[in-house]
Amino acid sequence: MTPNEARDALIARRADLLGRIAGIDDRLDDPVDRDSEEAAIETEDDQMLQTLGAVERAEVARIDAALDRIANGSWGVCVKCGEPIAEKRLATLPETPFCASCAG
Ligand SMILES: [Zn+2]
Repeated sequence: MTPNEARDALIARRADLLGRIAGIDDRLDDPVDRDSEEAAIETEDDQMLQTLGAVERAEVARIDAALDRIANGSWGVCVKCGEPIAEKRLATLPETPFCASCAG
Protein backbone atom coordinates (compact mmCIF):
# COMPACT_ATOMS: atom_id res chain seq x y z
CA MET A 1 0.00 0.00 0.00
CA THR A 2 1.44 3.36 -1.01
CA PRO A 3 1.06 6.43 1.22
CA ASN A 4 -1.42 7.81 -1.34
CA GLU A 5 -3.55 4.68 -1.17
CA ALA A 6 -3.36 4.75 2.61
CA ARG A 7 -4.43 8.38 2.66
CA ASP A 8 -7.46 7.63 0.49
CA ALA A 9 -8.43 4.68 2.68
CA LEU A 10 -7.94 6.68 5.89
CA ILE A 11 -9.92 9.66 4.62
CA ALA A 12 -12.81 7.37 3.60
CA ARG A 13 -12.70 5.60 6.98
CA ARG A 14 -12.57 8.95 8.79
CA ALA A 15 -15.67 10.22 6.92
CA ASP A 16 -17.48 7.00 7.81
CA LEU A 17 -16.56 7.37 11.50
CA LEU A 18 -17.57 11.03 11.59
CA GLY A 19 -20.93 10.06 10.09
CA ARG A 20 -21.40 7.46 12.79
CA ILE A 21 -20.36 9.89 15.53
CA ALA A 22 -22.88 12.41 14.19
CA GLY A 23 -25.56 9.71 14.30
CA ILE A 24 -24.64 8.82 17.88
CA ASP A 25 -24.72 12.47 18.93
CA ASP A 26 -28.16 12.86 17.36
CA ARG A 27 -29.47 9.98 19.40
CA LEU A 28 -27.88 11.37 22.56
CA ASP A 29 -29.61 14.69 21.94
CA ASP A 30 -33.04 13.05 21.99
CA PRO A 31 -34.88 14.41 25.00
CA VAL A 32 -35.36 11.74 27.65
CA ASP A 33 -38.72 11.67 29.37
CA ARG A 34 -37.70 11.21 32.99
CA ASP A 35 -41.21 10.22 34.06
CA SER A 36 -41.51 7.40 31.62
CA GLU A 37 -40.88 3.82 32.65
CA GLU A 38 -38.32 3.68 29.90
CA ALA A 39 -36.18 6.47 31.38
CA ALA A 40 -33.80 4.06 33.13
CA ILE A 41 -33.39 2.01 29.98
CA GLU A 42 -32.79 5.11 27.89
CA THR A 43 -30.11 6.30 30.31
CA GLU A 44 -28.34 2.96 30.02
CA ASP A 45 -28.64 3.26 26.26
CA ASP A 46 -27.10 6.72 26.33
CA GLN A 47 -24.14 5.46 28.33
CA MET A 48 -23.61 2.72 25.79
CA LEU A 49 -23.81 5.22 22.94
CA GLN A 50 -21.30 7.51 24.68
CA THR A 51 -18.90 4.61 25.04
CA LEU A 52 -19.31 3.81 21.36
CA GLY A 53 -18.73 7.46 20.53
CA ALA A 54 -15.49 7.45 22.53
CA VAL A 55 -14.21 4.42 20.59
CA GLU A 56 -14.96 6.09 17.27
CA ARG A 57 -13.41 9.38 18.37
CA ALA A 58 -10.23 7.59 19.46
CA GLU A 59 -10.05 5.96 16.03
CA VAL A 60 -10.50 9.34 14.31
CA ALA A 61 -7.60 10.67 16.43
CA ARG A 62 -5.40 7.72 15.34
CA ILE A 63 -6.38 8.34 11.71
CA ASP A 64 -5.57 12.07 12.02
CA ALA A 65 -2.16 11.18 13.43
CA ALA A 66 -1.56 8.75 10.55
CA LEU A 67 -2.59 11.44 8.01
CA ASP A 68 -0.03 13.77 9.65
CA ARG A 69 2.65 11.09 9.27
CA ILE A 70 1.68 10.63 5.60
CA ALA A 71 1.95 14.41 5.12
CA ASN A 72 5.41 14.62 6.70
CA GLY A 73 6.71 11.45 5.04
CA SER A 74 7.12 9.35 8.18
CA TRP A 75 4.14 7.06 7.55
CA GLY A 76 4.98 3.36 7.37
CA VAL A 77 7.83 3.66 9.87
CA CYS A 78 7.32 2.53 13.47
CA VAL A 79 7.23 5.59 15.77
CA LYS A 80 8.78 3.55 18.56
CA CYS A 81 11.72 1.66 17.04
CA GLY A 82 12.05 3.43 13.67
CA GLU A 83 11.86 0.18 11.68
CA PRO A 84 9.63 -0.04 8.59
CA ILE A 85 6.19 -1.47 9.34
CA ALA A 86 5.39 -4.63 7.37
CA GLU A 87 3.41 -4.01 4.19
CA LYS A 88 0.81 -6.61 5.18
CA ARG A 89 0.25 -4.90 8.53
CA LEU A 90 -0.14 -1.49 6.88
CA ALA A 91 -2.65 -2.90 4.41
CA THR A 92 -4.89 -4.03 7.29
CA LEU A 93 -4.10 -1.22 9.73
CA PRO A 94 -2.99 1.84 7.74
CA GLU A 95 -3.43 4.03 10.85
CA THR A 96 -1.07 2.02 13.04
CA PRO A 97 1.96 3.94 14.38
CA PHE A 98 3.72 0.74 15.51
CA CYS A 99 5.33 -2.28 13.90
CA ALA A 100 3.98 -5.67 14.95
CA SER A 101 6.63 -6.23 17.64
CA CYS A 102 6.22 -2.78 19.23
CA ALA A 103 2.42 -3.07 19.18
CA GLY A 104 2.90 -6.19 21.28
ZN1 LIG B 1 8.61 -0.96 16.24
